[in-house]
Amino acid sequence: MWDVDPARHFPGRVLHTQGWPLSESDSWGGGFLYHQANGQVALGFVTALDYKNPYVYPFEEFQRWKQHPAIRAVIEGGRRVSYGARAINEGGWQSVPRLAFPGGALIGCSAGFVNVPRIKGSHTAMKSAMLAAEAVAKAIGEGSSHTELADYDAAVRSSWIARELKLVQNAQPMVSKFGGEFGTMLAGIDMWLRQIRLPLIPAMKHHWDSEATMRADLFRPIPYPKPDGVISFDRLSSVFLSNTNHEEDQPVHLVVKDLELQRASELGVFGGPSTRYCPAGVYEWVGVEEGDPKFVINAQNCVHCKTCDIKDPNQNIVWTTPEGGGGPNYPNM
Ligand code: SF4
Repeated sequence: MWDVDPARHFPGRVLHTQGWPLSESDSWGGGFLYHQANGQVALGFVTALDYKNPYVYPFEEFQRWKQHPAIRAVIEGGRRVSYGARAINEGGWQSVPRLAFPGGALIGCSAGFVNVPRIKGSHTAMKSAMLAAEAVAKAIGEGSSHTELADYDAAVRSSWIARELKLVQNAQPMVSKFGGEFGTMLAGIDMWLRQIRLPLIPAMKHHWDSEATMRADLFRPIPYPKPDGVISFDRLSSVFLSNTNHEEDQPVHLVVKDLELQRASELGVFGGPSTRYCPAGVYEWVGVEEGDPKFVINAQNCVHCKTCDIKDPNQNIVWTTPEGGGGPNYPNM
């Protein structure tokens, strides 16, 4: 979030981008810039987590993206106000898991209800919350407690949420499989066929983002420019603006199941992608040059984006809920 020069601010104006500065061979994604109220703009950059090249650095891609003349023209002379990061569950309707379990339910974006081509999910989030509330009210009315809200799962699957998301369910998988340009064209054709009730292409299967990462020796490190302190910044000064706070004396909520595997594989084979994919700089490998690498976890900086749980190539990092409601505090975001 930035405060910008009033002369460069046009409330309601929306700018979406696709591709650049990501290289088609490395990854795909896109950016957004929304002119909001109070002289502020919200801007961000999405990097799809099924990238192969472990040297891709989503935070640095965002810094490069801000240097594009169309973005720079809006924020130049402005001031950074806040910073955050989040993984978007955009696998399509076929990736939506079971929605209810004893004592809880998945609602909104946590369940993967975002309509990716429309870049919109608040309407499905609200509807899913309404369906969950109805299921809870019915369960309470029947005198049951601590049970699974099976009615909620069924209600979502027979609602307009399912109908809407089935129309676009191949959009993201097609871009992921065929690349940003060709994939987007195919996704458009598939959506159009589904709209006229001719779903010729069945729901496409997905892979795990963690499985997409390839060995570091197959790639060369990507040379990212240094931050200029005006448009682009470093990670730690950005994390400061997320107002993240955790109790200092709690157990580390980021659990590495096997530290030796982390050393041998995450660092030895994949070149330590956690040091790049984490938007908060939580993970560091120290002592590499001395031949005694140690995995440092700065858990207090975690902004709860869940990327490590998703992208670690060995699924060796488990994100657990921290104590005391800690985490980022995002006013106006
Ligand atoms: S530690 Fe994991 S969940 Fe926390 S900010 Fe980094 S990648 Fe996101």
